[in-house]
Amino acid sequence: MPAPQILQLSGSVREKIKEDPSVENGLKSVKYSSRYALCLFYNAKIEIDEPWDVKYIYDDEIFRYVAIDNKKRNKPDSPPAIVLHTTITYGEENVERNISDVQSDLLDHVKKIFPGWPEPDFVKCQKWRYSQVVTPYPGNPGFIVVQQDPLLIACGDGFTKLQVLTITQLIITDPHTHRKSSWEQDGKAMYQGCWFWPYPVSRLHPT
Ligand SMILES: Cc1cc2nc3c(=O)[nH]c(=O)nc-3n(C[C@H](O)[C@H](O)[C@H](O)COP(=O)(O)OP(=O)(O)OC[C@H]3O[C@@H](n4cnc5c(N)ncnc54)[C@H](O)[C@@H]3O)c2cc1C
Repeated sequence: MPAPQILQLSGSVREKIKEDPSVENGLKSVKYSSRYALCLFYNAKIEIDEPWDVKYIYDDEIFRYVAIDNKKRNKPDSPPAIVLHTTITYGEENVERNISDVQSDLLDHVKKIFPGWPEPDFVKCQKWRYSQVVTPYPGNPGFIVVQQDPLLIACGDGFTKLQVLTITQLIITDPHTHRKSSWEQDGKAMYQGCWFWPYPVSRLHPT
């Protein structure tokens, strides 16, 4: 669970953490960005006419990522399901708002930037208060031992190095279709490229 939620635990775990100020302060220093996901579902098998299956959006103030998820998962014949993720700034500014208001603003914005898309049959808006780590645990230990006996370890993305990559070109082929992924090659951080990558991104070679 995210480090801030470890600190919300009560009982013996919380007591144990309090015993060691360096652990408590370390956990307090872990910071995450927040993000909304907006999912659009369609009942019928209709074509969403876009030249990409998944796309990192560089020039929008609200959405950062969009995927025609059934196509991304190599199910082009299924009724479409579209997933959009908001930007870090939008998450920061809107995290405390009522989710129905956010959903309605996001839907309006989808209509603005993708005016040709049909009206979805079902919409789900999901808030991720703790989405991606911005500041990891000091020293990036990978894990910490909260208690020796019985052994209790805290680990996960909050305790590891940030794996953000800046390269000039990244080729990731879709293993199912062998088509090239459609992220633009513009020298910006290709964070989305790490999503299904089983190794540290440092193993990717710029071409
Ligand atoms: C919307 C979104 C988009 C993202 N995009 C990217 C991206 O493009 N690229 C990228 O590299 N990363 C991305 N991330 C971040 C990535 O998902 C996380 O960094 C990664 O999943 C963290 O792995 P983890 O094992 O630390 O934690 P998690 O994957 O969150 O695993 C924690 C597990 O603990 C379980 N758990 C929680 N509480 C308890 C409990 N009390 N008892 C038992 N089990 C519990 C949860 O169910 C979960 O299975 C994204 C995250 C979000 C939310």
